[in-house]
Amino acid sequence: GAAVGPALPRYVRVNTIKTCMSDVIAYFKRRGYTYLGKARSIEELAELGQKKGKRFLQDLHVPDLLAFPPGTDLHKDSLYTAGHIILQDKASCLPALLLDPPVGSHVIDACAAPGNKTSQLSAIIQNKGKVFAFDLDTKRLATMSTLLLRAGVICQELANQDFLTVSPEDPKYQKVGHILVDPSCSGSGIPDQMRILADKEESAKSERLEALSGFQRRALSHALSFPNVQRVVYSTCSIHQQENEEVVRDVLEQHPHFSLIDALPSWPMHGLNIFPGSSCCLRATLSDTLTNGFFVAVFQRKKKVNESHL
Ligand code: SAM
Repeated sequence: GAAVGPALPRYVRVNTIKTCMSDVIAYFKRRGYTYLGKARSIEELAELGQKKGKRFLQDLHVPDLLAFPPGTDLHKDSLYTAGHIILQDKASCLPALLLDPPVGSHVIDACAAPGNKTSQLSAIIQNKGKVFAFDLDTKRLATMSTLLLRAGVICQELANQDFLTVSPEDPKYQKVGHILVDPSCSGSGIPDQMRILADKEESAKSERLEALSGFQRRALSHALSFPNVQRVVYSTCSIHQQENEEVVRDVLEQHPHFSLIDALPSWPMHGLNIFPGSSCCLRATLSDTLTNGFFVAVFQRKKKVNESHL
């Protein structure tokens, strides 16, 4: 039969707004789980799925993340229902981690619902400052309000608005130094979506990808036009070059005051080599990084010449 690939661990993000790593570890030990310490390699995470038993590890790349055996269902766990833990894939923890806004700063989450990354950003700025979060979809925003309430987030300002219509000149966003752009994408990195997409007709598929990558370019470019933004993180849960490296390459050309930075040098998988510097981008797949398929690029405003002592 076909070779069976690795299974995705159940990743659990500790919500530091409500609790801390040591309390969550202690809780799961009381519930009969064996704590194996901090993983030293992705292989060690993969072993969670190869042996039987209630065991868990701390992740090696994302500081507030735990990994449980594939299939561990924690949706009814009281830590989850109380908002102390967030069930979030490891790859989707990378954008907020790499945006790394300072405590108390002003951040925009451009395409925010259902809000897992907004809640993570809020935890990073310690619930002080502001996360301006936008989304077009009313239903998804309603879900997001519930999720943020449960997570104890109080620094958010939600708006049911097209991010492309948010004015960079509005004094309200003058202090925004960090923007996360996680736009709608084909979802081709998510296992179920992969099948749906594979079944679609080739022409319908390429039309859809074209429409998506058009929006992705506009959203990313709009983010880079905010006057005081220093760092912008672009991410998708797609594995298509058209939605990832090609978007980054084209937008970078339009915004020469920004360059890509390699924000997580220890990450094993990089962008496809289609332009100089594409290796700064980060990719993720189940077989290479034991996560969903994902893509992240970190744009940093270049220092002015008089600041860089050339
Ligand atoms: N960042 C979210 C999270 O981590 O939970 C997931 C975001 S999802 C990939 C993309 C979102 O973009 C969708 O909720 C969609 O409604 C929203 N969206 C699409 N077009 C938009 C636009 N023009 N302005 C704002 N949001 C938009």
